[in-house]
Amino acid sequence: MNQHRFSVKIVSILALLVMAIMCSSELKAQNLYEQYHVIAKSFGSDKKIPKLSIVNNNKVVAQFINGVEPSIQISKKAIAVCKSMKKDSSNALAVILSHELAHYYLNHADCSKYFAGNSIALNNNSVLNEAEADRVGLVQTLKTGYSSTKIYQTLLDNIYTEFNLNENLKGYESLEKRKEQAALIAQEAEDHYRIFIAANFLTASKNYVPAFIMYDYLTTKYAFKENYNNAGVARLNTAIELLLKNNPKKMPFLLPVELDGFSRLSYSVERSEATTDNSEKCKQLLQEANDKFAKAILLDKKYAFAYLNMACANILLDNPDAALGYIKDLELNGIKNKDSYTVKAIAYYSKGDKKNAMSNFELAKKYNAANSDYNLKLMKSKDSFLNFLPDFSGFIDKYFGDKKPVLTLVNLQNETKQFGIQEIKLPAYDLSIQISSKPNIEVSYTETKNYDAIKITTPTNDYYLLKTTPYTTFKSAKGIKNGDASSTLIKTYQQPKLITSAGNFNYLQYDNIIFTENYKSVICDWMLYKEIKKTAN
Ligand SMILES: [Zn+2]
Repeated sequence: MNQHRFSVKIVSILALLVMAIMCSSELKAQNLYEQYHVIAKSFGSDKKIPKLSIVNNNKVVAQFINGVEPSIQISKKAIAVCKSMKKDSSNALAVILSHELAHYYLNHADCSKYFAGNSIALNNNSVLNEAEADRVGLVQTLKTGYSSTKIYQTLLDNIYTEFNLNENLKGYESLEKRKEQAALIAQEAEDHYRIFIAANFLTASKNYVPAFIMYDYLTTKYAFKENYNNAGVARLNTAIELLLKNNPKKMPFLLPVELDGFSRLSYSVERSEATTDNSEKCKQLLQEANDKFAKAILLDKKYAFAYLNMACANILLDNPDAALGYIKDLELNGIKNKDSYTVKAIAYYSKGDKKNAMSNFELAKKYNAANSDYNLKLMKSKDSFLNFLPDFSGFIDKYFGDKKPVLTLVNLQNETKQFGIQEIKLPAYDLSIQISSKPNIEVSYTETKNYDAIKITTPTNDYYLLKTTPYTTFKSAKGIKNGDASSTLIKTYQQPKLITSAGNFNYLQYDNIIFTENYKSVICDWMLYKEIKKTAN
């Protein structure tokens, strides 16, 4: 029981890592509004979901209407076109809805409002926004489990036919050209989706450097605040690791951004002074992280995670006043977040203001903020911080000692057999994307009906992932299938080693296998993974 409670706490520790994915089991959404909300939530934004209305206007496919009360309209006729696509009808609806939602979440205030084909000529800027909304929209539909990319061109065709649109609409490329472009955009969305999965996997397995290189790659493709935030988070965690190696006493408290409190165990045990001075590298990473969070905030000035993370970076940059300023900004924007008490407490502690540190740690505990129990106990354990270090590792051992999760070893061989293969490492990948040349980082993947095989190449390691698709007919070796309750999983596989929260879903991680759980505590897919260290030659 203790175990279970603890893992729940870890979830909140990890809440700052935002990677919005929804699960497919929800996708069998029975009605349009449900489907709309599932997709809207997958954008992972704090922004209010705009109202959806169905309109009786045969000239409109769908549109995003900006204003004081932003809304999205879809016409009855567009719904009929989607319905005519039978088994693909929800995929088609997903494409249209996510496109309009992308305009909203990407703050395309003044762009064209139509999903496709009206007679208003578009200016260049609008054309760019259209392409961006297409790409981002499609990535979101993939994340929510729709096979949207496969039907995108057909949908365009059907819309042109049913809405009697001229194939050479004024202000648009010709239909042929648009379909060519649609194919490219669909392919890009497929690629980005796999890179996103790979980056999330690397973050969850604490391979932060290749992770942030991947998030950076994604941000060059489209400005999406989650990618900026995640690129910052991976840097911040890299800096924290360096810092703990060099100087664990510098930050005895757990920041909300830290993935896993247990890491502290290993660092506190080592305790030896590092031989190389990493402080410059650390500073550079923190400043870069700061820039990423600032970019995320530019895209959404109410984006709480980015403010909190930016404040954490500034505490570690020895600038607690700036950290307090960012929390103030967040509050001035009307956003309340329980983790801000933790950040404030640590900032005050850094300034030597014990009184305010204590009262904020107490508030954090009261509201059950991430790491609040650990932090408050630590704060109370010593009066004098000057004498912190001698007992610090003792504190950590004592705190985590009996709460350490059971390490569940999963028989990978048995699991891979469920995929009809003996080895997780597959011989050929259809597609390969070079993310960076120095260091060389690649993502390759092959898609099958039941699973995606993804290979991540880094200079030191290769990672092989088999990830089930939303529509998989597979069961895990111990009989877990998509749609099962998380409690069934835990009964069968025991407590996971680590739970990584990622916005609307959690990764339940065992050795070699990671299950994805949605916010309704239902399993929606799982991933086998294997890491192969490259031998130096
Ligand atoms: Zn549009």
